[in-house]
Amino acid sequence: MESFLQELSKVLEKKYILTEDQDKAPYLTDWRKRFTGKALAIVLPHTTQEISEIVKLCAANEVALVPQGGHTGFCGGATPDDSGKQIVLNLKRMNTIREIDVENQTITLEAGCILQTIQEKAAEQDFISLESWR
Ligand SMILES: Cc1cc2nc3c(=O)[nH]c(=O)nc-3n(C[C@H](O)[C@H](O)[C@H](O)COP(=O)(O)OP(=O)(O)OC[C@H]3O[C@@H](n4cnc5c(N)ncnc54)[C@H](O)[C@@H]3O)c2cc1C
Repeated sequence: MESFLQELSKVLEKKYILTEDQDKAPYLTDWRKRFTGKALAIVLPHTTQEISEIVKLCAANEVALVPQGGHTGFCGGATPDDSGKQIVLNLKRMNTIREIDVENQTITLEAGCILQTIQEKAAEQDFISLESWR
């Protein structure tokens, strides 16, 4: 697996590949603390290009990949299993709002955007009223 991690460090800066237990811990348990797993590494990509290369690398090395957004799901789907062989791909750095189209009332954004941020942006454009959401 060392060679896999070395290959990974050609795609992502080392600081965005978490392999130390204390760094991985926050990503291994869901928000209700119902599901806890183990992971070879947590990766924090910033671009779709990086994600594409990580997916290719995982496929080539038969390493299972667990996508993780806010880790608020109720089914443990974003929690790795306990093999310690999977990697968690967390999307929190993919948090850019790419476009707000007022005419079509659409917002194009990256998968790591937080719902509250999106709601605030939509409210700024009068797409929604935050009062009705609270
Ligand atoms: C207070 C509260 C209220 C909630 N209310 C609702 C509700 O009303 N309705 C509802 O349906 N759910 C609700 N949920 C559950 C949860 O918030 C939603 O399901 C939410 O959509 C999960 O998003 P997440 O980014 O946290 O996903 P995670 O928990 O990170 O992931 C959920 C699943 O999606 C996969 N995944 C995540 N991101 C990606 C991606 N970019 N590409 C591919 N796969 C991905 C993960 O691998 C996992 O299998 C609630 C949760 C909380 C905490």
